[in-house]
Amino acid sequence: MLMAFAMAAAGCAVDGSPPRVSTTVMHEQSTTSTSAGTVSMTPMASTPTTSMAPTTQTVESLAASTTSRAPVTITVLYDNHAIRAGTRADWGFSCLIQGLEKTVLFDTGQNGDILLQNMRVLQVRPEDIDVVVLSHAHADHTGGLACLLASNPGITVYYPASFPADLTRTARAAGASVAPLSGPVAPCSGLLITDPMGSPSESALLVETARGEVLVTGCAHPGLVEMTVAASGLLDSPIFAVLGGFHLSAVSPGQVDRIVKDLARLGVERCGPAHCTGDAATARMKAAFADGFIEMGVGAAITF
Ligand SMILES: [Zn+2]
Ligand SMILES: [Zn+2]
Repeated sequence: MLMAFAMAAAGCAVDGSPPRVSTTVMHEQSTTSTSAGTVSMTPMASTPTTSMAPTTQTVESLAASTTSRAPVTITVLYDNHAIRAGTRADWGFSCLIQGLEKTVLFDTGQNGDILLQNMRVLQVRPEDIDVVVLSHAHADHTGGLACLLASNPGITVYYPASFPADLTRTARAAGASVAPLSGPVAPCSGLLITDPMGSPSESALLVETARGEVLVTGCAHPGLVEMTVAASGLLDSPIFAVLGGFHLSAVSPGQVDRIVKDLARLGVERCGPAHCTGDAATARMKAAFADGFIEMGVGAAITF
């Protein structure tokens, strides 16, 4: 990963309890569905741990690693589907990135109570989170922030600078540090937040792993391929995997096939559709990527 970007400082002052976030209306509504279907990856262990150590199946043997970086685990905490007993599905997205210098929460889902419940079941402690990155100002990605900050105000929150001012006020009232983005930023080694693009302005995460770069998207409103191309422009190596919401429920099968082809052309080998991707597009991507498909849903923990 190219790291010629500002390293942001963490830390914040502690304040009283925050009001709820009410940044924007949701961009889309849908029924919530819960899937208890079989998965190709093992959800996190049910026995309590204090280290939050991942106990997941790796995507691929680290013997094939291209770098000496320690394993990085991405755990889905909030999604339209749930694959781990005891967790709740709800429209929205959030995932946790562990194994880097800092523990990072990408998006916060829509409902803070559901987010915290899923975190409890998956043995993720709010106080272990150093950084929150909000991809874009839709409530199904920002709605859980206030509850999270009430549990841990010592978080630094990154978000596109075009976010509504009430989010900044809410985060500051909770005692958090805020870091509006107007370009790519690296909160720590191995993590890059991409330049906000499109409307609504949306950033993605680039996570450096032993297997290669992993791009995590919230909704990919600017277009999955467009965001992958833009993120690739920040790197000197191809993107190995793309995960997250792809916003493809309204596209035709032919368009999905073109997206798959474009991703392959860009060097993407693994694909984990979640959240707003849509069941039809997800099924098509699953067939196309075959062994490279990553099953998402609340409780999925993918180690690279
Ligand atoms: Zn969304
Ligand atoms: Zn959205």
